[in-house]
Amino acid sequence: MIPLTSSLLYLDDVHVAFDGFKAINGLSLIIEPGEMRAIIGPNGAGKTTMLDIITGKTKPDSGDVLFEGGLDLTEKDETEIALAGIGRKFQKPTVFESQTVRENIELALAGSRNILASILYQEGEEDYERITHILETIRLDHRAEELAADLSHGQKQWLEIGMLLAQDPKLLLVDEPVAGMTDAETVETAKLLRDIARTRSVIVVEHDMSFIR
Ligand code: ADP
Ligand code: MG
Repeated sequence: MIPLTSSLLYLDDVHVAFDGFKAINGLSLIIEPGEMRAIIGPNGAGKTTMLDIITGKTKPDSGDVLFEGGLDLTEKDETEIALAGIGRKFQKPTVFESQTVRENIELALAGSRNILASILYQEGEEDYERITHILETIRLDHRAEELAADLSHGQKQWLEIGMLLAQDPKLLLVDEPVAGMTDAETVETAKLLRDIARTRSVIVVEHDMSFIR
């Protein structure tokens, strides 16, 4: 039976084991619209596995995983879950190095449309403004015309977050964003994730205590 919930994300008593090893053992978690949640745990604690369950990459052995009250995520594949409004940032950044920073966001925006719409796509004023706003959010508006290859590792992480924002997710999942970042980038990452959480929900998993603080 599916429980009634008005929460954006609802996990109840989720279990998953790999060859008998209990990676997640009775996890329950509720995220409301507009909430920012940081989840901390040491390496091997099951943080990435939790994100794999939410995004449909791993199916739990038991437990409920619901999105927006009624959508049973355990029955959906990764594409369906992404289309439902869950965006995921993996640990390693994957940006188009040979494109400019702005072009990376443009590609993500075009890619979020259907095929016919992206063939017919011509960037209008509205999209230009939207991309500019995303570039401001990810602190890269001053680097817009530079190649993504020339960004620092931390800035590439931000660019990838921007590419996810172009898809306008209701829930953004971010896996250990500050690994390999400078102290200044780490502080800025905490701020930019807070900015993002003003218009959507954010779950960030980390093992870096100073970032969580
Ligand atoms: P974290 O992200 O907190 O470091 P993970 O979720 O990556 O932790 O891993 C939790 C545990 O589950 C680890 O012991 C890991 O080796 C194991 N694990 C994760 N994914 C798989 C998998 N697909 N197959 C087997 N074991 C896995
Ligand atoms: Mg991990």
